[in-house]
Amino acid sequence: MARRARAPKKPKDPKIEPERLPLVEKAIHELIAEYQIGNLERITIVARSKAGKASGPPCGRIVKVSIVSKAVNALLKDEEIGAVQYAVDVKVHAWDKLDADEKKRELLHAVCHMGGYDDHDRLFLVQHEIEEFQRVVDVFGAYAPSITKFAKAAKQLPLAGTEKK
Ligand SMILES: [Zn+2]
Repeated sequence: MARRARAPKKPKDPKIEPERLPLVEKAIHELIAEYQIGNLERITIVARSKAGKASGPPCGRIVKVSIVSKAVNALLKDEEIGAVQYAVDVKVHAWDKLDADEKKRELLHAVCHMGGYDDHDRLFLVQHEIEEFQRVVDVFGAYAPSITKFAKAAKQLPLAGTEKK
């Protein structure tokens, strides 16, 4: 059996203590209302600041969505918000450089990832096989060359996250 080399720990970004971002949370709720995303009506979402530079594909570059585990919810218990379903981590340094439209686009993308609860009462994330959700492209256009490519290809695909119950 090959011996596995011990992976050296990579130095991380200078730690910043994550902070709640109430303005981002407010903007997310406004988007959910504006686009009438019904599966998220009773979902609690927190936005948190994150260190690090923007890099990689549009998805998760600056704003990243995750499901909040039961363990993390247990830690959050003292806060008045109650159980949280999704966390939106925002790389604040890059975020601050976005204009209002770009911020909205990033958040709509994040919201499109939130599927709410499935039939087994489990939270899920909606994935896109391509780099962007059609809904985001419909609203904001193809804002990057890679998006233009897929936007043409995606015309025939059903819209992610827009199924009506
Ligand atoms: Zn994405």
